[in-house]
Amino acid sequence: MNLLFDCHTHLVEPHHISGHFLADAKKAWGESFRLSSTPEEHRKANEGCTGAIVLALDAPAVGFNVPNEWVAQYTAENPTRLFGFASVDPNRDSPERLLEAAVKELHLKGLKLAPIYQDFHPLDRICYPLYAKAQELKLPIMWHQGTSFVHKGPLEKSRPVYLDPVARSFPDLKMIIAHMGHPWMGETISVVRKNPNVFTDISALASRPWQMYNALVEAVEYGIEDKLLFGTDFPFFTVERTVESLRNINLAVDGTNLPRVPERVIEKILHKNTPELLGLV
Ligand SMILES: [Zn+2]
Repeated sequence: MNLLFDCHTHLVEPHHISGHFLADAKKAWGESFRLSSTPEEHRKANEGCTGAIVLALDAPAVGFNVPNEWVAQYTAENPTRLFGFASVDPNRDSPERLLEAAVKELHLKGLKLAPIYQDFHPLDRICYPLYAKAQELKLPIMWHQGTSFVHKGPLEKSRPVYLDPVARSFPDLKMIIAHMGHPWMGETISVVRKNPNVFTDISALASRPWQMYNALVEAVEYGIEDKLLFGTDFPFFTVERTVESLRNINLAVDGTNLPRVPERVIEKILHKNTPELLGLV
């Protein structure tokens, strides 16, 4: 049975991104780099999946604003397959009230937070009412808790280990650390291992196969393979490219005595009932 579910996608229009954000992206990834896609491209990209999570982003600090309404309008087309996640900048007044409104009025199913883009520290007490609201409303939080190419983004607020106290304070709040918290995979794995409510996704790692290989070997050694979720970070990466990179993960160590990522682990990542795990259905 096909259980391939893309837990990490974006639907970005060109005007959602500021010029300086785009300039930083192109500096890191080259002139041809694209951050935006049309709804039609998004629809087509996840045809082979059982469904996808689509993320809003409220990040005025770096000039990246994908409105909750935009995501809600798109995901409403197909509510059994598409799950929209709201985004609220914790620096706004009463962010918990904004989240509640997004969920009740727009039927969004989770919360996207990104300290490196929204310029907040996860352990700042101003954020705790927002976490409490997400837990109360049974909304999983997708965290971009890792590095970024954005010059203005504060790395000092972006380490995965800061999510450990949040996970312990809110044991019923499900959280996903995107991109395995790259390049701090070890921190991510230690947070995921000890907190039953924390998961991590493998999205966007396809461009760095050696890093991805090492992260997956480490994840297996620590026994967190059941909590590795499949995601692409579309439009940056596609389902095809991500599946291919997973299936080819051991190529770099062929003919050596280095450990291999077991086939059963790769299959587990590709066949997981993520909506059920995250309480979305
Ligand atoms: Zn992303």
